[in-house]
Amino acid sequence: MAETTVDVFVIGGGAIGAAVARDAVGRGLSVVLAEAGDFGGGASGHAPGLLHGNPVNLARWQCRSVGEARREAAGFLVTAPHLARLQRLLLPVRQGVGRPPMRLQAGLWLYDRVSRGCGLPRHGMLDETALAETTCLAREGLDSVLTYYDVVADGRRLVLETLLDARDRGARIANYTRVTALKPLAEGFEVAYSDADGTQDRVKARYVVNATGARVNNVLRLVRGGAAGRQMDVWRGAYILLPMPDPPREEAVVLQAADGRFVFAVPWYGRHIAVGTTAGRHTGGEPTTAPTEAEKDRLLAACNRFLVPAAEKAHILDAGVGLRGAPATRGRTPPEPGMPVLASQRQGHGGLVSVYGGSLTTNRLAAARILGVLGEWGCRMGPSWTAAVPLHGGAAAMDDLLELAEAQSPVSRLTRYRWVETYGAKVYDMDAALNGRPGLAREVIPGVPEVELVHAVEEEEVTCAEDFLDRRTRLGMVIAEEHRTTIANWFTKRARAEKRRMKKG
Ligand SMILES: Cc1cc2nc3c(=O)[nH]c(=O)nc-3n(C[C@H](O)[C@H](O)[C@H](O)COP(=O)(O)OP(=O)(O)OC[C@H]3O[C@@H](n4cnc5c(N)ncnc54)[C@H](O)[C@@H]3O)c2cc1C
Repeated sequence: MAETTVDVFVIGGGAIGAAVARDAVGRGLSVVLAEAGDFGGGASGHAPGLLHGNPVNLARWQCRSVGEARREAAGFLVTAPHLARLQRLLLPVRQGVGRPPMRLQAGLWLYDRVSRGCGLPRHGMLDETALAETTCLAREGLDSVLTYYDVVADGRRLVLETLLDARDRGARIANYTRVTALKPLAEGFEVAYSDADGTQDRVKARYVVNATGARVNNVLRLVRGGAAGRQMDVWRGAYILLPMPDPPREEAVVLQAADGRFVFAVPWYGRHIAVGTTAGRHTGGEPTTAPTEAEKDRLLAACNRFLVPAAEKAHILDAGVGLRGAPATRGRTPPEPGMPVLASQRQGHGGLVSVYGGSLTTNRLAAARILGVLGEWGCRMGPSWTAAVPLHGGAAAMDDLLELAEAQSPVSRLTRYRWVETYGAKVYDMDAALNGRPGLAREVIPGVPEVELVHAVEEEEVTCAEDFLDRRTRLGMVIAEEHRTTIANWFTKRARAEKRRMKKG
């Protein structure tokens, strides 16, 4: 394989790597992307899924980038209408707690101003009647409740659908494939990688994009002869999942924690509330997958400052930690996710671009900027094209999809609604498969017909039960343990059958 030369080799299948692969292949470049774990399993899959300009950045006078990011967030409503949802956020203001009300109001005014024309509704304030109907907020000392709008989407699916679109346009994408060495050549690099079975291979690439998030400097150490990295900080982000209160809450709530940080409590698949924030600097090696007790306490305390009923540790259904890298700063305050800083190294007419920081919201813009560097190095490619082009399942209007969910089918309506919100326009393909093989309507576990598992393997690069239950869907959070085993057995059986077929063939 080393004799093959590709234009661009992308290391890392998170939000940034996915967007680079998609943009590059659409501009006519040959692209390979390798992801060490499963797609979107890094920081991109550990965010509460808020796509926003992030008003906090206005305090740092980053007005232009806040406006750009909010416009990008609104763009997902067009390119992934099945995944992205307009989200109203409530910002409760209490006298003497957190920032002064006037400052918050001025901030939201500016937020609307810098993102003029983005199409999202303007900020406002709950009136007496609306306030009386809002049962989730603690009343004591409540001064007012400001409102504004952003967008939410499941980060893991956004990453996946970006990658699947890249694949459908001709990019080669591989999960469970780790890059193990980078050897500089006269023009570009030789990239060595190994897949899940331990099989090693190499490919020559004129340009390499190191989009490995918090691991960016680890990958630079793989460059034979050394490559200069930037000083970087790794920040831990922690989240907890709480049960959806009764009555269910549709609004996200922005909470001001005691240390001044903003904590977001976002409704999650209509079933849970995800509460998350950047927890602090990460030191040491690999993180545990769960937040520390102190991190959980801080998140619960932020909830209980503003929300009722009180949340306790015993209520936590799930919790996780994500790591994100960002260029080093002296301060203790974490930089908010935003546009990344790029470090580049020429290698003949080729080169290596390493990405520091970034956000889910602005991954498309980051990709365009990275390809801009390759353009400056003489890489010939087509113009930018991604602005309004739908992602993998995004090519159908939500009204049509909701009609599709109601259509006559051997699959239950509840499942079809879930499908529509997960796979978008690809439900048409699943229906076509069911027409061809009606037996695939058989439910492997309640609510999961076999056709969905076949789609997962054949279309969504799924290799095991965890990929399907915890990343392609979030069914893993709601099914019984015995059902997880049944799904795992289905994948094992399918893999064995595939091996037998390959042997025969
Ligand atoms: C808790 C938290 C909250 C956040 N909140 C928001 C938010 O509200 N809005 C927002 O827009 N952004 C938010 N972010 C930031 C956003 O999620 C990340 O900045 C963004 O997703 C980073 O994407 P990435 O592709 O750079 O990194 P990652 O998603 O981490 O992807 C890097 C990938 O590289 C892979 N990799 C590493 N080494 C190798 C190797 N040797 N070979 C192959 N692959 C390798 C890793 O497995 C990983 O999957 C948040 C992040 C966190 C952690």
